Amino acid sequence: MTKKESKHSQQKKILLARRQSLMEKLVHNKETADDMSDLTRGDDLDQAVATRDREMNYMLTNRERLELKAIEAALERIENGTYGKCEECGEEIEQKRLEILPFARYCRDCQTEIENRSGRKENPAELKKWRY
Ligand SMILES: [Zn+2]
Repeated sequence: MTKKESKHSQQKKILLARRQSLMEKLVHNKETADDMSDLTRGDDLDQAVATRDREMNYMLTNRERLELKAIEAALERIENGTYGKCEECGEEIEQKRLEILPFARYCRDCQTEIENRSGRKENPAELKKWRY
């Protein structure tokens, strides 16, 4: 039990640190966007680069927002004691997987299945699975 708790507190530390850096990035992106709107001069090349950079920031932000959401959910699960359990089958998620993906909600098998399910119907992996 004690061992398990310390395992999760380690994940919690990782999640909190990750959340922190994402938050900082989000704030930074927002500030960058605000700065950009004030930019009305400068030569065309600078403008083009600035626009591209800004778009990249937004792209990252969208992705990171999803991650942030997943991190929040994982932290919640640590609080209510369901962290590290697959939401689909209830089995414990491999420690190794949690180290790579601290906000994983599903074990590897279920994740694969869910991805197949939400993917194209003609997913070869899914067809293969049905065959066995
Ligand atoms: Zn599972």
